[in-house]
Amino acid sequence: MDYIPVTIKGCSVQILEGKAVSVARRAKIAALSAEFKVKAGRPPGLAVILVGDDPASHVYVANKIKACHETGIRSTEQKLPTGTTAQHLREVIEELNADPLVDGILLQLPLPKHLKGDEAITWISPGKDADCLTPQNLGRLWSGRALTTPCTPWGVMVILEHYNIDVAGKNAVVIGRSNIVGKPMAHLLSQANATVTVCHSKTKDLREHTLRADIVVVAAGQPEFLGKGDFKKDGVVVDVGIHRKTLPNGKSKLCGDVRLKELEGIIRAGTPVPGGVGPMTITMLMENTVKLANGHL
Ligand code: NAD
Repeated sequence: MDYIPVTIKGCSVQILEGKAVSVARRAKIAALSAEFKVKAGRPPGLAVILVGDDPASHVYVANKIKACHETGIRSTEQKLPTGTTAQHLREVIEELNADPLVDGILLQLPLPKHLKGDEAITWISPGKDADCLTPQNLGRLWSGRALTTPCTPWGVMVILEHYNIDVAGKNAVVIGRSNIVGKPMAHLLSQANATVTVCHSKTKDLREHTLRADIVVVAAGQPEFLGKGDFKKDGVVVDVGIHRKTLPNGKSKLCGDVRLKELEGIIRAGTPVPGGVGPMTITMLMENTVKLANGHL
């Protein structure tokens, strides 16, 4: 499929609509899920664990549960209070590890301050690691034997593929080097034969790198910090950032790391926020769950 020339509020950059890609992909996942149900006599199962009262996390979890309904995945939700001890959280995870109806486990991050997310992830059985965050699964990913794929970077690759954006031989810059986004993103782009540069908070001259890049994936977590003057003519920009900003009228709206509207007439294509990478992340979580379920047959 070619680019869909969509205009968003005064911006004529060709929009890579993750939301639309995600709708099509969810239909395919629903079919895979139904096939699994016929073979296994039960639907694939995803268990979501949410600790504490973080409002954004509650919204993310609600969206994940909704996506489970859409794709025929049975979801269960464990809502634990903010004061949950590490010991109790570990017991909950271990129970889910042993539950034959649960194929994937998602521990919603961040956890309350007294709990260590990095440690808690290691309690999830690699065979049920729907987010691909355990050290075992990241190691498998690096060695080309992945059970699952990190959802956000995988979603970015699916968007690029959907719009026929060939990354082979291209200069790609990834801004950010977290375990959840930047590092696996760089790996997937490299696997797809891009020449990849990873930039981060200690990079000396960020613009020197972004101006040379055919594809820039921005995952710095800095609200609207890049715009006109930062990207190459006819480049492709994928914005992973998600922030809630307060408007002068007191209302709030979502924005990304990039000021997309400024890039009109400069870049070839870009993802919007909202409606870009966000919906794909949840969709790939569903696909990972069905993959894991098939591994449990
Ligand atoms: P993080 O804070 O763990 O990592 C941010 C990375 O950006 C770090 O490696 C840091 O070195 C780098 N960085 C920070 N400031 C920089 C700067 N000025 N210049 C260059 N590099 C800089 O964040 P994360 O978990 O990787 O998430 C990044 C962003 O993506 C956040 O806004 C997060 O909310 C968003 N996110 C979105 C989705 C989605 O589904 N769309 C999923 C995960 C994360």
